[in-house]
Amino acid sequence: MTDKQAQIANADIQWLESGAPYSLQFEDIYFSREGGLEETHHVFLQANDLLRRWQEADKTGLSLFVIAELGFGTGLNFLCCWQLWEQAALQNLRLHFISCEKYPIKLDALQQALAGWPQLQNFSSSLIEVYPDHSPGYHRLHLSSQNGKSSVTLDLYYGDAQEMLSQQLIDYRKKYQRKQIAKRRWKIDAWFLDGFAPRVNPDMWNSSLLQTISTLSGLGTTLSSYSVAGHVLRGLAEQGFKVEKRSGFGNKRQMLYAEFAGTGTGTGTESATAVVTPGQKTVLTPDTPKPDVIVIGAGLAGCSTAWQLARRGYRVTVLEQEAGIAQQASGNPQAVLQCRLNRSASPEWHFNLQSYLYASRLYTSLAKSGGIEWHNCGVLTLDSAYGNTRSRPNNKRYDNNNYDNKDYTHFASAVLRRVNAFESSTLSGIEIAEDGFFLPHGGWLNPVALCQMYLQHPLISVQLHTRVESLKYEESAWQVYAANERRSTSAETVIIANSYCAAKLEQSAAYPVLPLRGQVSYLQATPKSARLACVVCAQSYIVPVNENMHSIGASYVRNSVDTTLSTQEHRQNIEGICVKVSGLDLEARGLDPQSSDLDLEKSANLSGRASIRGSTLDHMPILGQLPDPNIWHGIYGGAQHLSAQSEVLGNEFFPGLYLNVGHGSHGLTTTPLAAEYIASQIAGEPSPLQKTVTAFIEPQRFLRRANREKFRDLTACQNNSD
Ligand code: SAM
Repeated sequence: MTDKQAQIANADIQWLESGAPYSLQFEDIYFSREGGLEETHHVFLQANDLLRRWQEADKTGLSLFVIAELGFGTGLNFLCCWQLWEQAALQNLRLHFISCEKYPIKLDALQQALAGWPQLQNFSSSLIEVYPDHSPGYHRLHLSSQNGKSSVTLDLYYGDAQEMLSQQLIDYRKKYQRKQIAKRRWKIDAWFLDGFAPRVNPDMWNSSLLQTISTLSGLGTTLSSYSVAGHVLRGLAEQGFKVEKRSGFGNKRQMLYAEFAGTGTGTGTESATAVVTPGQKTVLTPDTPKPDVIVIGAGLAGCSTAWQLARRGYRVTVLEQEAGIAQQASGNPQAVLQCRLNRSASPEWHFNLQSYLYASRLYTSLAKSGGIEWHNCGVLTLDSAYGNTRSRPNNKRYDNNNYDNKDYTHFASAVLRRVNAFESSTLSGIEIAEDGFFLPHGGWLNPVALCQMYLQHPLISVQLHTRVESLKYEESAWQVYAANERRSTSAETVIIANSYCAAKLEQSAAYPVLPLRGQVSYLQATPKSARLACVVCAQSYIVPVNENMHSIGASYVRNSVDTTLSTQEHRQNIEGICVKVSGLDLEARGLDPQSSDLDLEKSANLSGRASIRGSTLDHMPILGQLPDPNIWHGIYGGAQHLSAQSEVLGNEFFPGLYLNVGHGSHGLTTTPLAAEYIASQIAGEPSPLQKTVTAFIEPQRFLRRANREKFRDLTACQNNSD
């Protein structure tokens, strides 16, 4: 994707006299002002028989109902659907609504359009609070109505519908088709086709999109639309849908209703909820109780994963080797949420941006419900941050970086904006003579308090002083053996989330998570520094005052597990910000610039904490189900399988074993979406990430690379001997 493509275009709207929005891109109306709500009810909610199907699914204990819409527009269909959902007041079932949108409506236009429906305000206000009108790709929103009576998950897919939906499909060769279908354990239960008329928007009705719709459907999937264009009806029939014309709404004579029968040319011939991935035991079906899950490690990665699973109804036990939770890198008193500034619109950029926006939304909602204190003060990165390799935007290998180029055109201005020295000073409350970039969704929080909040969930229990030494798969479950314990604990699903210690377990030893020491310095505030209003990053960062202290950090020392404080790193931290931002008026008493020693008597205003993070060579975390390297190399050892796009077959994974490690110094940013991604995988739900992105975080990337290197060496040997 070029940087230009990385920017999405917003809808070009004209307001009609009736107050209805009209699309200038498509020359069509979004909805009719008269009877818009009734039309939505007739064409989408009633036609798909949603209320009855939800009630039935809820009684039979199904956990998830997935609706997908083509054309989010003003969100009217979604909001009506949510209103009906709240009225249904179900016990078990959760609603997951996916909506594709190529031209998102600007926030102010969305507000204007929805102001016309006061009866939906309980829902529209919640949408407006978090609605993103920028940045391509997937945005997962967890929404609660204003009266607190219901919640839904909304996935907004910003981009062309066909391209976005196909990101949920797994590539496969014909031969492995059946196994690949089995890998996906969810299906779309109902489709709303609402993408303007085929006459003005043929892209929304073309045969490859209809085929994708079919592939994501299963037996019992329904579909409806106001369009009864002949080629749409024929196309759907070819893809396995039984198609009917029904009476339309108001003066529209007809509408379309279809049901997936699985007999067409499409590939989705099985009901996705009825199939089980080979070797996976954690499938939730009506007649199996929810399995227990063990999470190894009580840092941000482990605690957030436990919480995302507990929210889905899993009982989780967290095992931690230390005497308390969040003892390593997650134990600093102030951690910063900021977005990695990748230099191009790479898949890594997508992951980092999506993680950052997801984390910011999550912390805002947790703070709103009183769970944590979240300081959404923004993060200012000064240009001098790039004078030091340590702080450079990451990933030279993938990004083809040009460090002098400060033009991040692939970021939307709502996410990252250029500021001059005057704005730097205004935003930070401190005199700063430098230009920079401002990230308004960023800020800081206490990660220990966040971990505590996560673990307070009633379905989570924590076992401290428990160092896991080995895992064995026996009798369809993982036996977890800990030091000093005579008996093992067991669960069908285990998540290894213990950072660089994952290398000590046999099953995760092949994935390189390297210790990376980081020291944070705590410096007493001065009257001037206490005015600091946002996080400021130069060659190191400073966080606004908390209990009369600032956190300043952090050092990066590779392959060190030593946690004794270093004077040299204190100096590096403090000089990295205080020299650049002299307006802070901070100095570390006792840090003699001429000497490598700290004068302890004079250093009463300085302390710190060193801890060890787990980092990876490509700066991306390692997330997802663990492949068994022995089986993997057996299958993919040959040259024909070396493509980076090679997809997995389904049974070369350790059953129910997952990895969530390698967040480096960005744990506060990446762990919420990582946890959501893993919980979605375990529960068999739509992924919050596009597959072009997951290829850069899943563990098998290291096995692919090892195979490619082996193949290269082999070819070189052969060439030399020829
Ligand atoms: N369901 C919407 C509502 O409740 O307000 C109305 C949808 S409007 C009729 C159609 C929407 O489809 C527009 O917002 C348009 O931008 C979007 N759209 C058109 N072509 C698209 C494509 N190829 N991929 C994704 N969205 C598209």
